[in-house]
Amino acid sequence: MNTSFRQHIAATLTQIEADGLYKKERLIASPQGGKVQIVSGSGTRQVINLCANNYLGLADHPDIIAAAKQAMDEFGFGMASVRFICGTQTLHRDLEKTIANYLGKDDAILFAACFDANGGVFEPLLGAEDAIISDSLNHASIIDGVRLSKAKRYRFANSDMNELEDRLKEADKDGARFKLIVTDGVFSMDGYIANLPAIAELADRYGALIMVDDCHATGHLGEKGRGTPALTGVGNRIDIVTGTLGKSLGGSMGGFVAADQAIIDLLRQRARPYLFSNSLAPAVAAGSIKAIEIAEAADERRRQVMAHAARFRAGISRAGFELLPGETPIIPVMLHDARRAQDMAAALDERGVYVAGFFFPVVPVGKARIRTQMSAALSEADVDFAIGAFEDAGRALGII
Ligand SMILES: *Cc1c(COP(=O)(O)O)cnc(C)c1O
Repeated sequence: MNTSFRQHIAATLTQIEADGLYKKERLIASPQGGKVQIVSGSGTRQVINLCANNYLGLADHPDIIAAAKQAMDEFGFGMASVRFICGTQTLHRDLEKTIANYLGKDDAILFAACFDANGGVFEPLLGAEDAIISDSLNHASIIDGVRLSKAKRYRFANSDMNELEDRLKEADKDGARFKLIVTDGVFSMDGYIANLPAIAELADRYGALIMVDDCHATGHLGEKGRGTPALTGVGNRIDIVTGTLGKSLGGSMGGFVAADQAIIDLLRQRARPYLFSNSLAPAVAAGSIKAIEIAEAADERRRQVMAHAARFRAGISRAGFELLPGETPIIPVMLHDARRAQDMAAALDERGVYVAGFFFPVVPVGKARIRTQMSAALSEADVDFAIGAFEDAGRALGII
């Protein structure tokens, strides 16, 4: 390789390390779950896992695994084709219909990931005459997807409805043909829920469409896990929902857009990540159908994950930590300083609790935190153990 190019790359890596931003991957030697085996020295050790998006605890569910195995026997391992050439099995349409029924939409379209769904959804639907008005804390894939479209971009501060209204007025003044407001249903770093009723009201007033990316909600929030539109009671005002099969709904992989028939039909013709990327594997499609069936009926798992969240919140604040308020299973423990967040994560690791520290650029400078996530795969004893470990580690580091 060209020497100066290699030096350039090496210098970038050195800078990432020097800035304390280098991400190392931990090796897990077990299925995803409330407890996982992590590789440690020459062996493994068990830790309580507070950082997966496995809210309903379905990632190792035996019925989902059985459905996936059966699909491999009946439908093979891979599709080796995009959908429109020779990559659409009955399973793919079954999964799309299952998603659409679950979320109360006409139809749904599958992507390899929600990153691709968000990357592909805007460009075919909106042109240079149109406006996309996006919350400033929206997921990276929305930001990228908006960039890939020709529509004019407007940004409002996180959940600031006054700013949203200003942007809607601005878009009207600029002569926008169509306006689309786009927001995450749950903002994953803070665990805050979008103010969908206020957004719906503004959308009505200004004649705008609404898109919600509900990755951190579908499956565990709202009635039967139908997500933030159901939770906030404005489901029929949301025009487009994007979501993932990689979090609550079994946690494997894949994303989708659910919407009116005409929107889905046009995306099938024009969405680039759909047209130019391989079909989901049969095992993933079949396992995800089973996961949605289980999720829809999983009131007890939803109750558990919310009960764990309330228990953990109460225990951690009683111990003297600062929390962000909220009503989701995402519970950020605020440490402000990046170094402190990393030290705390390491101290928790030593005490058998697996967490992730988040710091700049993922969250603003001075807002470093440990983001914990509850799961129905945890037991009450696991939650109590984790609270005890936080207390012990917090005292050892002089944080509480
Ligand atoms: C996780 C996430 C995505 C990406 O989903 P994948 O299916 O993993 O690509 C997109 N948007 C939001 C809000 C997410 O939390």
